[in-house]
Amino acid sequence: MSKEIRNDSECSKTDDKDWHQVTSIEQIEAAIKKEFSDESDSRKTVTAEVKNDKANWKIVLKKKNEKAEENFASEAKSLKDKIYHSRFMTTIRAQKAERFLAGAAVVLVLVVALVSVSVSTCYEVLVDGENVCYISSASELDAALKDLKAQADANTNADMTEAVLSTDVEVAAKHKVFVETASESELAEILQEKVSWQVPGAKIVVNNGESVLAFATLTDAQSVLDTLTQNAIAANSGAKVLDTRFYEDVTAEEGNVDAEDILTPEQALAQIAEGKEEVKTHTVVSGESLWSIASDNGTSVSTLNELNPGLREDRIQIGQEIKLNKIEPLINVVVDKVVTVSEAIPYGETVKESSKLMKGETQVVTKGVEGSKDVTYQISEYNGTTLEKVTLSEVVTKEPVNKVVNKGTATVATSSRSSSGSSSGVFSWPSKGTISSPYGKRGRGFHTGIDIANKKGTPVSAAAGGKVTSAGWSGGYGYCIIVDHGNGMKTRYAHLSKILVSVGDSVSRGEKIGEVGSTGNSTGPHLHFEVIVNGSTKNPINYLK
Ligand SMILES: [Zn+2]
Repeated sequence: MSKEIRNDSECSKTDDKDWHQVTSIEQIEAAIKKEFSDESDSRKTVTAEVKNDKANWKIVLKKKNEKAEENFASEAKSLKDKIYHSRFMTTIRAQKAERFLAGAAVVLVLVVALVSVSVSTCYEVLVDGENVCYISSASELDAALKDLKAQADANTNADMTEAVLSTDVEVAAKHKVFVETASESELAEILQEKVSWQVPGAKIVVNNGESVLAFATLTDAQSVLDTLTQNAIAANSGAKVLDTRFYEDVTAEEGNVDAEDILTPEQALAQIAEGKEEVKTHTVVSGESLWSIASDNGTSVSTLNELNPGLREDRIQIGQEIKLNKIEPLINVVVDKVVTVSEAIPYGETVKESSKLMKGETQVVTKGVEGSKDVTYQISEYNGTTLEKVTLSEVVTKEPVNKVVNKGTATVATSSRSSSGSSSGVFSWPSKGTISSPYGKRGRGFHTGIDIANKKGTPVSAAAGGKVTSAGWSGGYGYCIIVDHGNGMKTRYAHLSKILVSVGDSVSRGEKIGEVGSTGNSTGPHLHFEVIVNGSTKNPINYLK
């Protein structure tokens, strides 16, 4: 039945010869006149309706009206106004089957009436070809974009005089039934989110786009790189800086940048120092250990120690903040430098064997003293990371003094009965066994003899010839013998399990006088052997041969 006026989305169907491609309302008028004026049908039953679907608008004529032809011009003008707003080429289609329709005037009156009731012309706002909203007047978009630009001028570091939209923003007339249009503030909000402005500026590009920093001018970008270099040199004031370079691939170049991305040199330096990754910290709560914190955060205790110098497992407290990651600046300056530092020279140790000390015993004869040297290095480093370190020279400023240690070689020998008397003051070993505790400071107390451990019943012999002055129980010594060798020298034998001599007996060197036991204040079978010179105990080791 119908006459349809459609937009160009269907114009591809131009093989239909009943479609007339037109570009102006005059052509539509002419086409309508041509198609309808010559019709003369008496039935006069025409209906009309306006159809609207997403992509097309159609006016379908269905119903006849009796209005006079003089109305034609004004109604057509009205239709023309509406169609003029369309960006689309308009096609009118006339179907021969509708020839019975009455005059064009009749038809157009009805068409206009219906259009004004059900269909309104609105404007679709497209950002990068995508519908973002509808507005009721095309000029609203211009106004909104103007506002947005003014805002960018006020709120960014950009000079907006040469600003261009970085995204395509278009408006297209649409004929919609009951369309909802965006208010001025809604449109502003949508554009704020979807649209950005590009201005001529400069950028620092790190590692081919891994990070990009935008600037108003190339001078700004260059000044940031210069400052980074100067700061790195300043941080090495004690060294002779040979060269600097960026660790990353860094370029500064002119180009268009987003207005809102533009940084001042100060902002850029702060952003570079901050790095990509946010610094994460953990606040210690009850029941946590460094291990659990490391485990919970996917790191290791050694990393935590590295990031938090001075951190100690036994010192972490509830509420303490622990850094979890390292700040890696966006740009690092590698400094090649020559630096001289004073370093300690560790002392060596000379060990001399001594038969006067029991095996396992040591005695420091000379204390070690560290030396020092001035070492000159050539170092390449950035942000605390050393890339290369070469020693150029070393000058010793103080020689170290080696530590000298006497190391005991003496072992418990078999007692000998071959000689007698204490001619030299040097005693024979009173028993076989191992030295389980030497003479001297022990814990908070003082050990007045040496302990020779062996199993219960091991023979104990006189260390030299002499007279037994004590034989029997003696408190903490348990069963104990004292032999007087004359010249103010005595020997004591304690913790015995068996005593084979009596007070007043004369004994000779190597003569069996008792057996090893664990009597008195003792934790296991051993001989406690003392050398007493003029009433004071001495280290028996120094008297044993
Ligand atoms: Zn002892």
